[in-house]
Amino acid sequence: MPAFAPTLGSMNVIWAAAGVVIGLAAGAALRATVFRLSVAPGEPERQACPRCDRPIPRRLAVRCSRCGASLGAPLALELSTAVVLALLLGRFGGQPDVVAFGFFGVLGVALAAIDIATQRLPDLLTLPAYPILITLLAGAALVGHDFAALERALLGGLALAGAYLVLALIRPGQLGGGDIKLAGVAGLALGWLGWPALIAGAALGFVLSALVSLALLAARRLTLRSAISFGPFLIGGALVAMLTSMH
Ligand SMILES: [Zn+2]
Repeated sequence: MPAFAPTLGSMNVIWAAAGVVIGLAAGAALRATVFRLSVAPGEPERQACPRCDRPIPRRLAVRCSRCGASLGAPLALELSTAVVLALLLGRFGGQPDVVAFGFFGVLGVALAAIDIATQRLPDLLTLPAYPILITLLAGAALVGHDFAALERALLGGLALAGAYLVLALIRPGQLGGGDIKLAGVAGLALGWLGWPALIAGAALGFVLSALVSLALLAARRLTLRSAISFGPFLIGGALVAMLTSMH
């Protein structure tokens, strides 16, 4: 039986429901940060309301306090974070690593939203994710007495960041520095789950990206020269591998 089978009436459903609630709150909390960081590379952060130009608070705002304009699409972040956390908490709930995977899910939604809007993955989110995720996994290793998994996570982070670095050097323009840094974060989480999960997650990112590119080409929404952001596929592939892994 796959570990991700939804077992009605068991703790999994309660954890998934908790994921919905926490996800809605986390999505709302992220809205101001995603809005501020959704700018073209090299541009200063957005700090003013798009409609009336009033400065927006740095955190915890979902709309302009003067004119009421929404910061970003209403509910999009909240609902996507709720879905991702429901799945992750339903899968990892009750295990020592649940906080680490919940963190990866929330970070992933925020980064995917920014990458789709602006084709970049800001260092401001990817770099602090390393110490945070390593600390959470180290805590899980202590609680679960699983130091082999922690060692594998660190090697997995190095391996995936290294693989993306090589790919970026071979095919310049396809993958950016943000993708390499995000790959290291995904590699930490996937490596914790095991080498098969790491390989599956990495491969699924490219499969998803190819499928969506082909669909967009067929719909003539894209030409062969268009660059599409890779972050959402890297995150999506990692999430699918996490949800279906057996660790
Ligand atoms: Zn306003």
